[in-house]
Amino acid sequence: MHLLIPAAGSGKRMGAAVNKLLLPLLGQPVLAWTLRAADRAHSIEWIGILSQPGDWPAMEQILASIDLSTPVQLLQGGVTRQESVYRGVEYLYGLGTVERVLIHDGARCLATSELFDRCSAALEQVDGLIAAIPVKDTIKVTASGPKGIQIESTPERSRLWAAQTPQGFRLSLLWQAHREALAQGWQVTDDAALFEKLGWPVYIVEGEESNLKLTTPWDLVLAKQILQQRLDPAR
Ligand code: C5P
Repeated sequence: MHLLIPAAGSGKRMGAAVNKLLLPLLGQPVLAWTLRAADRAHSIEWIGILSQPGDWPAMEQILASIDLSTPVQLLQGGVTRQESVYRGVEYLYGLGTVERVLIHDGARCLATSELFDRCSAALEQVDGLIAAIPVKDTIKVTASGPKGIQIESTPERSRLWAAQTPQGFRLSLLWQAHREALAQGWQVTDDAALFEKLGWPVYIVEGEESNLKLTTPWDLVLAKQILQQRLDPAR
């Protein structure tokens, strides 16, 4: 399985001056944790990191320090996550030999190698899937009202799932979906949404509650706790 890691964002919502994936987490950059989990997954045979060339020296340094057994290539990312993935998919499609691809946000540095392998195995059976977990909160749909944000409706919680990554697709379909998005001007926050717009099925693989996406400084605190617990379960 080929794996693309979008890693070309900034540290804006994290309040950091650098790409949040380069921030330290228990003595290693966030991206190093993501890469190590992907490297341990038996199904992953190649990793492409979508990133900004300005971050390449730092990423080369990370790669030199962690000694992965899976081949890794740095590819140029885009202005949005969607554009970063587009470029990765374009590269893989150009190789002409890749059938399926997993996409995993670099910012989800707590995903386990078992989750990667579970998604790879499930992708043998379907053309589109995402890791997701059942929503615990009651979710409200809102609109702006005369006195503030007003609730419009409450979707039935049992049907709601929180989307995570990895997300996996048959490469030729994902490429077609991204081309269509470009032609139509669709802007989405994950790749499954492109399949949905085209009416193509996307299936759920049970994700992991600990598979947080590091977005705010608070997420870094939680991630540290989870990793410490994993490294020393007796704590
Ligand atoms: O900002 P956010 O955490 O939602 O981004 C999700 C993932 O997409 C991150 O791993 C980030 O590095 C990546 N990204 C990207 N290219 C961008 C913006 C975000 O690869 N232009």
